[in-house]
Amino acid sequence: MTKKQKTNLIRVIVSAVLVAGIWLSPLTGWLEGVLYLLPYFIVGYDILLKAVKGIFRGQVFDENFLMAVATVGAMALGDWREGCAVMVFYQVGELFQSYAVGKSRKSIAAMMDIAPDYANIERDGALAQVDPDEVRIGDVIVVKPGERVPIDGIVVEGTSQLDTAALTGESVPRHVEEGAEVISGCINMTGVLRVRTTKLFGASTVSRILELVENASEKKARTENFITRFARVYTPIVTFAALAIAIAPPLLGMGAWPDWILRGLTFLVVSCPCALVISVPLSFFGGIGGASKLGILVKGSNYLEALSEVDTVVFDKTGTLTNGTFNVVAIHAQDGVDPDYVLSMAAHAEAFSNHPIAISVKEAYSGTIDQARIAQATEESGHGVSAKVDEHVVLVGNDRLMSAHGSDWHDCELTGTILHVAIDGSYAGHIVIADVVKDDAEQAIRELHAAGVERCVMLTGDREEVARAVATKLGLDEYRAQLLPGDKVEQVERILDSARGNLAFVGDGINDAPVLTRADVGIAMGAMGSDAAIEAADIVLMDDKPSNIARAIRVARKTMRIVRQNIVFAIGVKVLILVLAAFGIANMWLAVFGDVGVAVIAILNAMRAMNARSIR
Ligand code: ADP
Ligand code: MG
Repeated sequence: MTKKQKTNLIRVIVSAVLVAGIWLSPLTGWLEGVLYLLPYFIVGYDILLKAVKGIFRGQVFDENFLMAVATVGAMALGDWREGCAVMVFYQVGELFQSYAVGKSRKSIAAMMDIAPDYANIERDGALAQVDPDEVRIGDVIVVKPGERVPIDGIVVEGTSQLDTAALTGESVPRHVEEGAEVISGCINMTGVLRVRTTKLFGASTVSRILELVENASEKKARTENFITRFARVYTPIVTFAALAIAIAPPLLGMGAWPDWILRGLTFLVVSCPCALVISVPLSFFGGIGGASKLGILVKGSNYLEALSEVDTVVFDKTGTLTNGTFNVVAIHAQDGVDPDYVLSMAAHAEAFSNHPIAISVKEAYSGTIDQARIAQATEESGHGVSAKVDEHVVLVGNDRLMSAHGSDWHDCELTGTILHVAIDGSYAGHIVIADVVKDDAEQAIRELHAAGVERCVMLTGDREEVARAVATKLGLDEYRAQLLPGDKVEQVERILDSARGNLAFVGDGINDAPVLTRADVGIAMGAMGSDAAIEAADIVLMDDKPSNIARAIRVARKTMRIVRQNIVFAIGVKVLILVLAAFGIANMWLAVFGDVGVAVIAILNAMRAMNARSIR
């Protein structure tokens, strides 16, 4: 509880005791009434102040105004106790709301409490604690057991277990040793690690996650905007309706003035749309929080809403459905050419490429790459690379690249991605590499189908044979092969046209960024994925597991269900009490009870969205 909540609680208790005391006292008439003013001001002075300020600012129709008019009106009519008690109840409700909002904020903050305060850096042989902002790329930092990794980097010494739960929701610790990549935000559990940083603190995983979560509340869902607009129109309407109830019947001689004025005031109290206004954003907030517990970062409630209506999921192949680490299966050199020479030239030509294919070829090459031997290296997206190595022009890529440069090539009987290599315009042979599908890829497709996603489509720049093999293995509904990055956008647009629901695109690479923006919901792989993809995406999967897509959809649907329940429930009860109040059946007590009660139930329901365990 905050300090403010504590003082408010004391105010409520003190005034409730006073009300009870005055009620039970033998006092009656004016004296009693004046005494009621004491608890009334203790518990309600801030509401009255806000109401007055609101009127001066021209924002007349807010809940403070409604409460002030209703209670002052009741007291003016001689219902001192009622006016006072209504204010006490209202404040109890407010207290509960602020507590619930604070709690959900805090639990998200706690989950996101992954920001490290310092980094240990070795300077002149001694260990110094510095601000993580001061650490440069390439510095070596020391992470002791029990500390959080402050900055992304690569382990240069030590072995340990990392607790990644805060980032990925994965409870099994990850083993790391020399050469392993570590991301910031994980907790180092067992051994001392020396880590060479690969990013600045501001660009590290932790900073990026915090930024995403902080900005998430700015992107409002359609439903949320609807509620805000609804409240803006609704409040003046009920206020005038209340006025009509108070004035019209007595004017027409249908009853006594005080009676109808009280009904009008009761009507006003009931009309407060607090439960609705507060519980809808809170539900989205809970959904985003619940998702991030599973390692799914959602950049705004609008994306959660869009995700709940997804019926088509389009995947990139490499790095998304497959690991993106290729093994060299075979090297088929032309007669008279040494296979090792082919691999060496290919590895050099790929020296400056970060494509998963390039990385794998360099890995397969046992020698060291001498950058002085390379000149004029260029990469053609979706085709391959070309470079001058030792004054030889080397081309490495697919058949399209070969044809584009007028080089010869021939097919291979093996299934796999084929890297043709041409040296000085003549065909030198090809390297066959194979990618491995991710462990959970098949399960991911199965779960998506089970969740009611009708079409799962794979897009790839790879060969038809490879695409078909992967699609059959994973149970995909459709695939398109041999696509250039530009073709992917076009394919997605075509699928968008024929889709009834929303389309989600899942990708990892730099060349996926345009498609990620084009889709209704763009989902990026967070750990392996490129920064451009993470930037362009609406949802980021921290652990790169495609099976998390189905989970994300389930979280989104659950959140939307809760949002709808709250809307229907809050409006339903409101309408019911409004009708009762108009007919004089509900008194002001019931009205406030109804309002506080609905708000409390709606808030409790909203908090369910945060419970991610039920989604797993
Ligand atoms: P995907 O759609 O599977 O993610 P890309 O669009 O990145 O694949 O690439 C499509 C094809 O282009 C690859 O299968 C490969 O044949 C060729 N290619 C792309 N980049 C390279 C590279 N750096 N070296 C060799 N071939 C490449
Ligand atoms: Mg790719």
